[in-house]
Amino acid sequence: MDGAQVTATAPVFILLGPPGAGKGTQARMLQDAHGFVQLSTGDLLRAAVAAGTDAGKAAKAVMEAGGLVSDDIVIAILKDRLTDEDCARGVILDGFPRTTGQAEALDELLAEAGQHINAAISLEVDDAAMVARISGRFTCGNCGEGYHDVHKPTAVLGTCDKCGNTHMKRRADDNAETVAQRLTEYHKKTAPLIAYYEGKGVLQSLDAMGEIDAITATLSGMVREAAG
Ligand code: ADP
Ligand code: ZN
Repeated sequence: MDGAQVTATAPVFILLGPPGAGKGTQARMLQDAHGFVQLSTGDLLRAAVAAGTDAGKAAKAVMEAGGLVSDDIVIAILKDRLTDEDCARGVILDGFPRTTGQAEALDELLAEAGQHINAAISLEVDDAAMVARISGRFTCGNCGEGYHDVHKPTAVLGTCDKCGNTHMKRRADDNAETVAQRLTEYHKKTAPLIAYYEGKGVLQSLDAMGEIDAITATLSGMVREAAG
């Protein structure tokens, strides 16, 4: 340090990886453990669909078919949420950016705010395992905790470990055909972002096929180091 005033800016992390890689699960964990805000464009879009907003109406059919919602809609939704006050604690972007256009828009938004990307972390998984992983997953309808029929069942069948609620939800797009389409879209449009962030010197990778808790521990260490 040379005595210059250091202004702390909110850290920004990106989780990259195909559908089912565990981005949502891990982003929630980082939110709970480190106080960052999980920003999931999938969640924001599902909320827009449920609320019946114009963006939600435009997104619904695309999401059900496993396609990507247009950059304009997604960027507008993300930008809106990113300027909320709680995001000053730092954010974990989960499911955004998913195209080069979104990545460039994010760079611009952050530059305007005097922020930068601390790390883009790629969760590496086998494609073949993803369909089974996704088709077994469900979440608590009350607190949003994520579960899996095989890998992470609830302790008591049908009851959330965290809050005791008994209403579980499965996503409409978590069926085999839609999942296959989501994986195709991922490889075509999102996987190139790995090279994009490598070129910017912020890429980190992690094997995400192991135990959830072990992945959480590794990820937590990466985030702690890159936040500083
Ligand atoms: P997953 O990563 O398991 O596919 P998400 O909840 O992140 O689940 O996304 C669900 C769907 O929402 C996607 O298949 C896509 O239609 C839409 N979506 C989410 N984020 C984006 C984004 N950044 N750009 C375009 N579409 C998106
Ligand atoms: Zn719950």
